[in-house]
Amino acid sequence: MRPVTEHDIRTSFVNCSKGEAKRLSLPKDLADHPWKDLDFLGWRDPGAPERAYLIAERDGVLVGIALRVASGGSRRFTSRSMCSLCLTTHTSGGVALMTARRTGEAGRQGNSVGHYLCIDLACSLYTRGKKEAAGTGGIEETLAPEEKVSRTRANLQSFLDKVVA
Ligand SMILES: [Zn+2]
Repeated sequence: MRPVTEHDIRTSFVNCSKGEAKRLSLPKDLADHPWKDLDFLGWRDPGAPERAYLIAERDGVLVGIALRVASGGSRRFTSRSMCSLCLTTHTSGGVALMTARRTGEAGRQGNSVGHYLCIDLACSLYTRGKKEAAGTGGIEETLAPEEKVSRTRANLQSFLDKVVA
């Protein structure tokens, strides 16, 4: 994705209040992010662990999504879960259910979209093999890197489409 600034981020949110968009904690060192390797910018709020944010382009427009991270998920240490964006398999705790309030009337009626996502939101890096899932490693895939990238992007777009009514 193209590099974004603090102003870009704060004005991109579609499913939270202007006040929240103004106050939320941004990732550090924005200028140093590996933008060319990112399909989206995602981060957890360091001051509020139940909050996470995702910024991506949809039809050429920057869209910011505020997410609520479900806590107290699976405590079974043997369990593995898969991220629905990058399809990386993690051991327990590496994936969390994140819920986004939908925009517009649907959101006002309390509708939301939930997805299991990598808890560090580093899907772009897992997709490109620049980061490895903790534990015993993921399931080996024979897919070429560029095919993985387009798959992650397609999953991302369908997620955005579900949130943005
Ligand atoms: Zn992921």
